[in-house]
Amino acid sequence: MRNSYKTTCCYCGVGCGIIVHKDRDGQLQVEGDPSHPVNKGMLCSKGMNLHYTVIEKGDRLLYPEMRYHKNLPRKRVTWDAALERTAAVFSSIIKRYGPEAVAFYASGQCLTEEYYVVNKLIKGFIGSNNIDTNSRLCMSSAVAAYKMALGEDCVPGTYEDIELTDCIFVAGANPAWCHPILWRRVEAAKASNPRLKIIVSDPRVTPSCSIADLHLQINPGTDITLHHAIGRALITEGYIDPSFIMDHTNGFDAYREKVMQVSIDEAAVQCGIPAAAIYEAAKLIGKAKGFMSFWTMGLNQSSVGVHKNLSLINLHLITGKIGVPGSGPFSLTGQPNAMGGREVGGLANLLPAHRVLSNPAHRQEMQEFWNSGPISEKPGLTATAMFDALHDGRLKAIWIMCTNPLVSLPDARFAEAALAKAPYVVVQEISRKPETIKYADVVLPAAAWTEKEGTMTNAERRITWLPKINDAPGEALPDATIICRFAQKMGFEGFDYPDAASIYAEHCRSTIGTNINIGELNYDLIKEQRSVQWPYVHGESKKRLFEDHQFYTPDKKAQIHSFDADNRSESLSPDFPFILTTGRIRDQWHTMSKTGKVNKLKQHIPEAFLEIHPEDARRLGVSTGDVVIVSNPRGKVQVKAQVSNTIKKGVVFLPMHWGHIGRSDLHRANNLTSTLLDPISLQPDYKYAAVSVARYEKP
Ligand code: SF4
Repeated sequence: MRNSYKTTCCYCGVGCGIIVHKDRDGQLQVEGDPSHPVNKGMLCSKGMNLHYTVIEKGDRLLYPEMRYHKNLPRKRVTWDAALERTAAVFSSIIKRYGPEAVAFYASGQCLTEEYYVVNKLIKGFIGSNNIDTNSRLCMSSAVAAYKMALGEDCVPGTYEDIELTDCIFVAGANPAWCHPILWRRVEAAKASNPRLKIIVSDPRVTPSCSIADLHLQINPGTDITLHHAIGRALITEGYIDPSFIMDHTNGFDAYREKVMQVSIDEAAVQCGIPAAAIYEAAKLIGKAKGFMSFWTMGLNQSSVGVHKNLSLINLHLITGKIGVPGSGPFSLTGQPNAMGGREVGGLANLLPAHRVLSNPAHRQEMQEFWNSGPISEKPGLTATAMFDALHDGRLKAIWIMCTNPLVSLPDARFAEAALAKAPYVVVQEISRKPETIKYADVVLPAAAWTEKEGTMTNAERRITWLPKINDAPGEALPDATIICRFAQKMGFEGFDYPDAASIYAEHCRSTIGTNINIGELNYDLIKEQRSVQWPYVHGESKKRLFEDHQFYTPDKKAQIHSFDADNRSESLSPDFPFILTTGRIRDQWHTMSKTGKVNKLKQHIPEAFLEIHPEDARRLGVSTGDVVIVSNPRGKVQVKAQVSNTIKKGVVFLPMHWGHIGRSDLHRANNLTSTLLDPISLQPDYKYAAVSVARYEKP
């Protein structure tokens, strides 16, 4: 006898449907949901092993723990004791230093309901906007670019476009490893449609290149140059859509002038690829009936991330390949609910339902909706800024939920030093593994994926409901319950929700009149339909936005932006002559706090490594398996070399997953990454750091 539950994978933003089987002993098994429109029964290696991540093997946090002094060990306490003391500490800090002295740092893995209540708490009731999430590290450049070009933070297309398109441009992404089920749909579409052409731009030859018709192995940091050059070729070769440009966009003349300033030959030299490849890319895009672009961190994690995004979106706007079947720009989301977090306004500069903090009318609307105090107009601290503020003493208390910044933030040694200086640290987590736990004054045990109810939104705006399947171990509680109990201990009203459905209902009401527009939705409706895409109006999901070519801008026209192809990343030097780029491997996810528990997933690539070109390796006297030291003024990493011609000469690659192993942090790629930020999105430049590489010699 076993019970089966339909739910959603809690790893990446593809959002695959999962069936969890629970036997009479409470053992869980998972399989892909054949009826789910995203994955049609398929799961990747991470999804297939999801049930292992919630099993208590001595690594789960079971009880609240607290210490009264930094020099004392934490001891088990009751929930009331932990939350009452934390409320007292927060209240006293706020009274003495103001509400901007406290902050919440959350995660794209939080459920929408959890995001909603923590955002409501700090913005509406504590009176500061100091909430940001690790989505700042992965999606904020795409968010800003969508808003600037289309008037709204929205992915216009739907996965069904994969089966309808005849050209896919994958820019700065490796979906074969990072979004595997989406990529299987691409592989299947390619196998059944010989007209489908695939272009990949990436400084590395990744597994996604195996089915590419054209791989543009560009120099790191030259994406805008490439996109501008393709734009130029689309114009000169007659592949643009003049009537779409005229009727539905602004800014084309300035764009044409800008892209004409650099010849294709010049651009090819800067990108390190043949000019013919740029013409070929333009031909494939221009001749296609449908043109989709997929991108992730190669564009987003950059000091010019917003411009990289805009330069790609421009290719859709000048060809009119947006809002039609098989076409559209499509940022792929790294986390399962980064989209849901933005829906509720869970970033330092947003308010619920994509309202913006800088708009007084939006602040007033939310203040009245929440029946709260005035919402501050001052943007909150973003992810990296919170750690700067801890370091210089402006921030006195930080509450970290469901994320592991000491592995994921750039310049991780600085982040660790900042957290060590923090007067009060709360960590809300499921496991003891994250490096943050060491610095916590209070540890709050949270329920895991199958132990709570809520919703998530995937990369194609698809909302699914996740049921509670089993009880959390020990005294662990759902994140939303923890936040609501804390808010009540602070004396705030409006957090006495009877269940997660009531939080969701409030969130849905907050979207009425906005572009998200899910006022009609509730749990029963989502359960009945299995999943729903926003906006959802008169009982219908909108699969594809802008089919009427009316954009969310004041004059309904999309904006084509023009800018130079600058690279603001740090400069190489004789001492630090290599470009370091970082990324994921197939079977690990983020900082390994979940995948690191699963033995099967460790077998694919068991340890961190440095990918280096054979010519560079030869010059340094390094062979595969030799230990190398990678360093720069921020720190160093010591791993084995993997000599491979899959990477460009002068470029090296480190996987981003590993943190501390025992007491050593020498596998942590983010010891080396740059804290330069995109000036608009404030997203860090993870893909371009100047480093030196040397063979390790035993002292
Ligand atoms: Fe989960 Fe993403 Fe794999 Fe689907 S592709 S099973 S959502 S990790």
